Amino acid sequence: MVLAQLGGSISRAIQQMSNATIIDEKALNDCLNEITRALLQSDVQFKLVRDMQTNIKKIVNLDDLAAGHNKRRIIQQAIFNELCKILDPGKPSFTPKKGKTSVVMFVGLQGSGKTTTCTKYAYYHQKKGWKPALVCADTFRAGAFDQLKQNATKAKIPFYGSYTESDPVKIAEEGVERFKKENCDLIIVDTSGRHKQEAALFEEMRQVSEATKPDLVIFVMDSSIGQAAFDQAQAFKQMVAVGAVIVTKMDGHAKGGGALSAVAATKSPVIFIGTGEHMDEFEVFDVKPFVSRLLGMGDWSGFMDKIHEVVPMDQQPELLQKLSEGNFTLRIMYEQFQNLLKMGPIGQVFSMLPGFSAELMPKGHEKESQAKIKRYMTMMDSMTNEELDSSNPKLMNDSRMMRIARGAGRPIRDVMEMLEEYKRLAKVWSKMKGLKIPKKGEMSSLSRNMNA
Ligand code: GDP
Repeated sequence: MVLAQLGGSISRAIQQMSNATIIDEKALNDCLNEITRALLQSDVQFKLVRDMQTNIKKIVNLDDLAAGHNKRRIIQQAIFNELCKILDPGKPSFTPKKGKTSVVMFVGLQGSGKTTTCTKYAYYHQKKGWKPALVCADTFRAGAFDQLKQNATKAKIPFYGSYTESDPVKIAEEGVERFKKENCDLIIVDTSGRHKQEAALFEEMRQVSEATKPDLVIFVMDSSIGQAAFDQAQAFKQMVAVGAVIVTKMDGHAKGGGALSAVAATKSPVIFIGTGEHMDEFEVFDVKPFVSRLLGMGDWSGFMDKIHEVVPMDQQPELLQKLSEGNFTLRIMYEQFQNLLKMGPIGQVFSMLPGFSAELMPKGHEKESQAKIKRYMTMMDSMTNEELDSSNPKLMNDSRMMRIARGAGRPIRDVMEMLEEYKRLAKVWSKMKGLKIPKKGEMSSLSRNMNA
């Protein structure tokens, strides 16, 4: 996803600024200009970018910062907070309650992924114990009902629609009534989309909304629509009470910055993102971990949660202690690999780890990546304790590398590759020195303590 490039550009701008001998007004301006350029190129709305720049300048007053202050860290923190602010409208969306009927209406333009997302949303909640149902009130697009029916049948979710009835309001009303009687607790209404915003679409949406009285209206937006995102989202918001946004096709080549703009336009949070065509390619969206990941800081809260979930309790303090010491030995890398191989959907966990995701575990290559990790571990099995516990890169001379290669039955270039990987990870992990270790349930403050 191109958002990753945006994150890369922002991180580079911050890095360049920190490389400057003195962080003065000029260094800060250069950094902010670079970030502005990156955000605009990613289709974030101009006004948002300008406001962000102004806010950062207001917060980071270089004259007031005493010499001892870590300016880079303060600036990075301000950038992190401002990006979070764009994405976080400050109020959560309505969340359906299990066992209590909620009606959720989906709106968006045709092709945005609305119908697919309705089923993903239903499927997600079904897996979590809800009793969802789908109503197809899209009478405009031929084939919409068949598509919904097919998806719903596959996921074993009850559905309602009609081939003959042409009044979407009537269908929506009937469907909602029926599923209320059947005690479904999450009734999802898919409405028509059109190729473009037009009066007829909005009027129909308004009528369906009036008839079904939804508890939540979700605006579905294709991440590739670029600069049009803000206006489109705002137009929908003006006609119906949009309460949440789902951004689709985040797996594609979209620039994705439009998503940030849509939040500002609707003043509603992004609650999920679509990351593929399949039913389970759907992720809960959380602002802080997302921005952390965007800035290459890693999704620490998600990672720590996962650690608490899968690393046995008695091993946790030791592991977290090692993380906070920031001293990354080959033995720690070995233990991390062991943990990671245990952690289930490995790609998902890896993608949360700072420095791991893109290079070591590219999306779609999980199998090869696992094989690579196992290969690395075989080579580490041929190392001595001294080698495993040392963090001195000079220790690994040619004769040691040759011995390891022979022991593992691998060519020496594999050992070199593994050591390169180690160096790269060690560099990332060294930034965790002094990491404040949160207890379970205290995760959200973590990214604030990072000095990545
Ligand atoms: P609607 O007209 O808004 O109801 O859109 P559809 O649900 O029919 O989706 C349009 C196309 O986008 C279909 O080919 C979907 O498979 C595809 N699609 C939907 N969501 C995603 C996503 O998150 N990623 C990708 N790659 N494709 C998606």
